[in-house]
Amino acid sequence: MTTNRAGRLDEFGTTIFAEMSALALQTGSINLGQGFPDTDGPPFVLDAAIAAIREGRGNQYPPGAGIPELRRAVCSHQHANYGLEFDAETEVLITVGATEGIAASILGHTAPGDEVITFEPYYDSYAASIALGGAIRRVVTLRPQDGRWTFDPDELRAAVTSKSRLILLNTPHNPTGTVFTRLELQLVADLAREHDLLIVSDEVYEHLVFDGRQHIPIATLPGMAERTITISSAGKTFSVTGWKVGWVCAPPKLLGPVRAVKQFLTYVGSGPFQYAIADGLAAPPAFYRELATSLAARRDIFTNGLLELGYQVMIPQATYFATIDVGAEAEKWCRALPEQVGVVAIPSRVFYDSDIDRYVRFAFCKKEEVLREALSRLAGPQLQVST
Ligand code: PMP
Ligand code: GLN
Repeated sequence: MTTNRAGRLDEFGTTIFAEMSALALQTGSINLGQGFPDTDGPPFVLDAAIAAIREGRGNQYPPGAGIPELRRAVCSHQHANYGLEFDAETEVLITVGATEGIAASILGHTAPGDEVITFEPYYDSYAASIALGGAIRRVVTLRPQDGRWTFDPDELRAAVTSKSRLILLNTPHNPTGTVFTRLELQLVADLAREHDLLIVSDEVYEHLVFDGRQHIPIATLPGMAERTITISSAGKTFSVTGWKVGWVCAPPKLLGPVRAVKQFLTYVGSGPFQYAIADGLAAPPAFYRELATSLAARRDIFTNGLLELGYQVMIPQATYFATIDVGAEAEKWCRALPEQVGVVAIPSRVFYDSDIDRYVRFAFCKKEEVLREALSRLAGPQLQVST
């Protein structure tokens, strides 16, 4: 199960999320590893899914591109939030989570040997999707600077070669919690235009942005809509990570190859949930604000708690995740944590190509009492990491 016949998955093994969630169950630990909330989404969305099932909407194969109601709702969402215009018929594809959208975009737009530029630490499916198509990843490292994570523009420029095909961007960024600024996006956009590269932009945390910051889709920058594939999903926005409803928005000539791949990966998925998310996306702006406010409050409880315990914490601007710097051997630290302390976290090493093993990622999208219990466990005796 760890590879495929072509050997393209040899380097990957089991995903860290499956491994760590299993360890949490085995040891009875608090699971701050895999990023999923411990409360379900808003009742109006849950009820809409139940109603769809009962009323026989989506129980049989939905249309290949996704149900028209959801495609239209995605268009309205993109327009209301960002002023982006997409045509529901030709420019929106509903996928089985963002994960499928990312995989289909990479498989649809790269040939073996093409290079894909992405930023490390990166979400784990990126490397696997790039490898599955026989493409090659080139990573640009994000580093902490002035309380957030950013890249060196020269390193980004140096990553472009004659084989570069696309830049896979993620903002707001997992695991660092960084929201790319307009200036950073402009650097990416300039490079893409100069070298005729596509952008695949993963924006699944678009609504989990804190402290009044703004998420900027790179497709809104001048001249970028025509070369950008924008991807998002309902999992984070509606706290239903198990539903796996995602979407891809792009001009028809970019969406075509994505659709061609997607139809043979899953054809379609998540029938009744598509109806529920179409309703969800019609939520008023206050819904999105409250979601971010509630999560920011939990970020503060957790990161303040870690700071009080003496951990070196990087305060995220967005997402579900906070990172601490343990200096070295973070992977060993994470592997000892469940057994010795009763908490599960993710060693960020798995998100790097470079040999960087000092960061640990915690998911704080949990109930306040769960976070407080995790903090009290972390306050216990110092972890013994064997070398
Ligand atoms: N991109 C990023 C950056 C993620 O953290 C995740 C995990 N939720 C995904 C994509 C996958 O999203 P989905 O569950 O909708 O497939
Ligand atoms: N996106 C979530 C995370 O980064 C979980 C994804 C998964 O389980 N594959 O933790």
